[in-house]
Amino acid sequence: MKCDKCSAPAVLFQRYSGLHLCKAHFFADVEKKIKKEVRKERIEGTLAVAFSGGKDSAVALSVLSDLFSRRGVEIVAITVDEGIAGYRDKALESAAMLVTELGVRWQVASFEEYFDVRVDRLDERPCTVCGILRRSLLNRVAKTVGASTLATGHNLDDEAQTVLMNYLRGDIDRLLRLDHPAKEGLVRRVKPLKYVPEKEVALYAVLKGIPISLDECRYSAGVFRAEVRSVLNELEPKHAGTKYALVKGLERILGLTRREPFQLGHCLQCGEPAVKALCQSCEILRGLQSRGNEAAK
Ligand code: SF4
Ligand code: ZN
Repeated sequence: MKCDKCSAPAVLFQRYSGLHLCKAHFFADVEKKIKKEVRKERIEGTLAVAFSGGKDSAVALSVLSDLFSRRGVEIVAITVDEGIAGYRDKALESAAMLVTELGVRWQVASFEEYFDVRVDRLDERPCTVCGILRRSLLNRVAKTVGASTLATGHNLDDEAQTVLMNYLRGDIDRLLRLDHPAKEGLVRRVKPLKYVPEKEVALYAVLKGIPISLDECRYSAGVFRAEVRSVLNELEPKHAGTKYALVKGLERILGLTRREPFQLGHCLQCGEPAVKALCQSCEILRGLQSRGNEAAK
């Protein structure tokens, strides 16, 4: 099969666009989607990139570093070490390879150092604790390095799953918070891969030879998300563009709504942005502590 834009052999068929694309046109297509997303924000000074070493964040880091290195924007890759033996240690090795190759600044921050917690020592809800602490730590480190914006590696599949999960739960507040504007103490977020399907991110990484970690965390990222992922993967081939429509649809709703979805104050314990008296990470750490004390009785 040939590329629909030139006569070179195609490496991919995009059902949603109806196009066969060769390697060069596929790369251009992914990079165009990434540029379009980051251009929605004015990025100056320092851009932090949440970098786990997996395919999504590796592709985001690699394209962003290429895009911004000539524009006087400093890129800082931030890797969170959650304390998961056997998983994070290996991912750190491929992460180190890529940051060296790209020549970007790299900060590694661990839960152990900031919160005195290791995910592999938790008895319950590892993913809930991990998700909340990771978000908080990324925000703190991004502020420490002076970044005005934090890019994360969420791809189209991740975003579509999150949107549908929130619709199905009727959690409109959380839906409205998905694309929040910058707020005091909260570094503005961008998701450069928001419109790039997961399979295309993987193909891009492989064809570009970007070093990535293929190891999966031993904890599952949640039963509900897995169910929603499989529903969407069944729908997409039958109704091409379903994932895109979900994500774009929410963006349109957010463009129409003027409602202020949440007010932010400061956490009474750590001073970080908080919706309630305590921020989510202090609340969850307090819960862990009290369960630990109960167990010790
Ligand atoms: Fe953390 Fe769960 Fe993801 Fe593992 S699967 S990295 S525990 S959120
Ligand atoms: Zn706090």
